[in-house]
Amino acid sequence: MEAEANSGSLEDSWAFIQRPGEGCRTVPLAGHVGFDSLPDQLVNKSVSQGFCFNILCVGETGLGKSTLMDTLFNTKFEGEPATHTQPGVQLRSNTYDLQESNVGLKLTIVSTVGFGDQINKEDSYKPIVEFIDAQFEAYLQEELKIRRVLHAYHDSRIHACLYFIAPTGHSLKSLDLVTMKKLDSKVNIIPIIAKSDAISKSELTKFKIKITSELVSNGVQIYQFPTDDESVAEINGTMNAHLPFAVIGSTEELKIGNKMMKARQYPWGTVQVENEAHCDFVKLREMLIRVNMEDLREQTHSRHYELYRRCKLEEMGFQDTDPDSKPFSLQETYEAKRNEFLGELQKKEEEMRQMFVQRVKEKEAELKEAEKELHEKFDRLKKLHQDEKKKLEDKKKSLDDEVNAFKQRKTAAELLQSQSSQAGGSQTLKRDKEKKNNPWLCTE
Ligand code: GDP
Repeated sequence: MEAEANSGSLEDSWAFIQRPGEGCRTVPLAGHVGFDSLPDQLVNKSVSQGFCFNILCVGETGLGKSTLMDTLFNTKFEGEPATHTQPGVQLRSNTYDLQESNVGLKLTIVSTVGFGDQINKEDSYKPIVEFIDAQFEAYLQEELKIRRVLHAYHDSRIHACLYFIAPTGHSLKSLDLVTMKKLDSKVNIIPIIAKSDAISKSELTKFKIKITSELVSNGVQIYQFPTDDESVAEINGTMNAHLPFAVIGSTEELKIGNKMMKARQYPWGTVQVENEAHCDFVKLREMLIRVNMEDLREQTHSRHYELYRRCKLEEMGFQDTDPDSKPFSLQETYEAKRNEFLGELQKKEEEMRQMFVQRVKEKEAELKEAEKELHEKFDRLKKLHQDEKKKLEDKKKSLDDEVNAFKQRKTAAELLQSQSSQAGGSQTLKRDKEKKNNPWLCTE
């Protein structure tokens, strides 16, 4: 009773404690305080920490991925051209430190190698999906650590995926549709028509419309440049209508008029990379680097990573609410999971014990059966042995009898022989005597 009364009064007292943000009032300041420098502080801190940006280039070998990256960042990134003989799709990742004014950028360029080169392209998207997930997983693991060093952590999550479409002028290949569909919930996809100098102006207009309608009808979500920020809403809105950008890449500088310009020279003329009448390269650079780089980073964290994190934690059994929609804290989830785990462990232990007992019983029965069989075999052998022994004894007895009878017969025969030899001896003597007396007597 006392405890109940106490808990009641405690709850009442909680009701009077104001939570942060509740009943917040606006008060005027009498003079300058200085917290209006916070945005500058933030900028300074970010600049001193540096930035990182990760681009994934997906597209068939030879579509101009490396050339476009060199053109976009106005440098020559090293890297050997890929062959068309890869057994499967791989991803090649390179990180570079770039500096512009006082801003440092750690740029990672990940490129597909061997994409579209296999006869069976069914699983071509898998290595790409796995790579993106692996970067999310690495970040999640860092976040879940007890001692986190996120500020020093090299964030390798992909911020933008440039999807290179071949300038066929027809429709999207099924490989492109499947891959983009698999990627759209994991990364900001910016589709681009590569090597667009290979397609005529009228064909290009039709091709863009066709691609857009195919993406919509297949439910592929591509990255939309944000229009919620007033300062960029107009330009972003206009640029969204230009997607997919038709680009040309070249690091070759040609003299056009008085200026050196990036261009590709053909026997019939020159195509200028940075001429908006020739291609959308400038639009792409503007949107990707100069206007929306931060939004791409932000979307990656707040949308794609958040989705990955949520699914992963739910998969692990973590939830924000219990089945009755009441808030469920991490601690409670942990306890529930621990109890569930211990329960399962006990169940498993019991099952194993039962199995062990059952196995012992089975083994015992098996041994008993074997013992019984051995006894039976022993008895059988013993009887067989006895019968054999008896037979041998009988045989011995009959042989002994035979030997005795033989001995008796032998003795009798010997006796008879000696008697007859004695009788034969006395007759010969008598005959010899008669011969002496009468030499003419014939004895034979
Ligand atoms: P990757 O395999 O996708 O990285 O392709 P590369 O950047 O190595 O380019 C392959 C070939 O295409 C090279 O000879 C490039 O000069 C050429 N190339 C690159 N971009 C363009 C382009 O916009 N138009 C044309 N016509 N050729 C290009």
